[in-house]
Amino acid sequence: MILKEYQSYFSQELSAIYPQTEIDTFFFFLIEEYIDFQRIDLVLKPDFELSSDILPFFKNALEALQKEIPIQYILGKTEFYGFPFLVNSDTLIPRPETEELVEWILNVISPTKKTQIIDIGTGSGCIPISLAKHLPNATIFALDISKEALTVAKQNAILNKVAIYFIETNILQTNHLAQKFDVIISNPPYVRELEKFEIKKNVLENEPHLALFVTDEDPLLFYNKIADLAAKHLTPNGLLFLEINQYLGKETIKMLAQKGFTNIELKKDHFGNDRMIKCHFNNLDSIENSK
Ligand code: GLN
Repeated sequence: MILKEYQSYFSQELSAIYPQTEIDTFFFFLIEEYIDFQRIDLVLKPDFELSSDILPFFKNALEALQKEIPIQYILGKTEFYGFPFLVNSDTLIPRPETEELVEWILNVISPTKKTQIIDIGTGSGCIPISLAKHLPNATIFALDISKEALTVAKQNAILNKVAIYFIETNILQTNHLAQKFDVIISNPPYVRELEKFEIKKNVLENEPHLALFVTDEDPLLFYNKIADLAAKHLTPNGLLFLEINQYLGKETIKMLAQKGFTNIELKKDHFGNDRMIKCHFNNLDSIENSK
């Protein structure tokens, strides 16, 4: 079958599920992946023959798209902060909101300084790896409870040619980190059960619930734990950066203030939702301990 015929068949097969612009984007991704074509090639080579050894790839992708499997999982990769990342169903697909968190961190941390950084709940490793690309003098650690996610994160560090120290651990059962950090970052699970109805079907059915959900009763479970660890393990004037639940900005700030964090700044994402927090911890204890 020739390319332009296949494209119209592909569009027709998906038109009941996705808007046309999204279908076009899927098709561009697939031709790039399977026949190394650019968008412009659709115009330049519409009569290109899709051979019988290539067609099964398109067929499988089409079937997966019909089941609303995210295109990133079908291709096994995505892009985050301009860098390539492998993803599979053991890792969340990195979100643009998290790119904004990375941007904020990079605006604050000097690339010339020797900075000790840790990312808690790293998933695909998108946060520490993007930071490492821009902070050559930083030493960066990343934790996750999921061995499977860490396997992907380690591959991503290799793919992006950066060194990250990955650690498999359950943060909820961790009371002590091995050293102090200048920057602690986390984008932990924060979606409440009661918010499930807002979550798109393709997210709900395909992305790891371990990385997404918390109970309605204790939605700040991870934030409480991370704040306690940060209070103990941040260097004087160290910074804590958090991605947060858009509905829990006030509660998260209150909890951080009660634990002694200062200069608490809340920032909205590009959708206008309360999405991230930066704060300091500089009590006398931590200054004493660092002497
Ligand atoms: N922002 C993600 C979502 O909307 C949730 C990420 C998280 O729970 N840390 O699905």
